Amino acid sequence: MRNKNLRVHGITKISRRIDVEHMHPYGKYLGILREDFGHICGYCGKSEVVTKNAFEIDHFVPTRLAPEKEDDYSNLVYACYECNRKKTGKWPSGDKNIQFVDGKGFVDPATDEYDKNLERDEDGNMVGKTSAGKYMVEIGFEFNKRPMKEIYKAMLLIEKKHQLEEKIKTLSGEEQQQYMEFSIALEQFQQTLFENKE
Ligand SMILES: [Zn+2]
Repeated sequence: MRNKNLRVHGITKISRRIDVEHMHPYGKYLGILREDFGHICGYCGKSEVVTKNAFEIDHFVPTRLAPEKEDDYSNLVYACYECNRKKTGKWPSGDKNIQFVDGKGFVDPATDEYDKNLERDEDGNMVGKTSAGKYMVEIGFEFNKRPMKEIYKAMLLIEKKHQLEEKIKTLSGEEQQQYMEFSIALEQFQQTLFENKE
């Protein structure tokens, strides 16, 4: 029996606000972009709290192809360090107006299309549901070569840790022991992630 797969963004709904006042340089959008993306990487769904590496602003259509979109808020994606490095200037069609060619291309994570192209399996691995999804997994972001499963696990552990922290004063001895075990497991996972430059 096949288990139900998960959204890459979990419970976060990413949506860029409209009517944003034009700003230059584009770095000035960071605060609102971060809010609109719910403090997670638009591409891999990694939460900021997993890593010490600062998140960045990616240009969805690369600036080398569309320099006029450099300060265009609708073209910006809140991205983790590693996703931004993997994507760099990739744009399969080579034409800013053509998003997909031969099934290859990137899907904007701030649209409903993202869920139609990519999902997570129950372990947290990224799964391409379409040819564009597979392109992003294998080439665009090389999710298949990165520790996506461990990142997902770390996010679940951090969530659990926060739940325990909220009621730390009321924890029994056994629960406090669990809390310690979770904290240690988390440290170990995060160590692994940083070794892999995530
Ligand atoms: Zn990412």
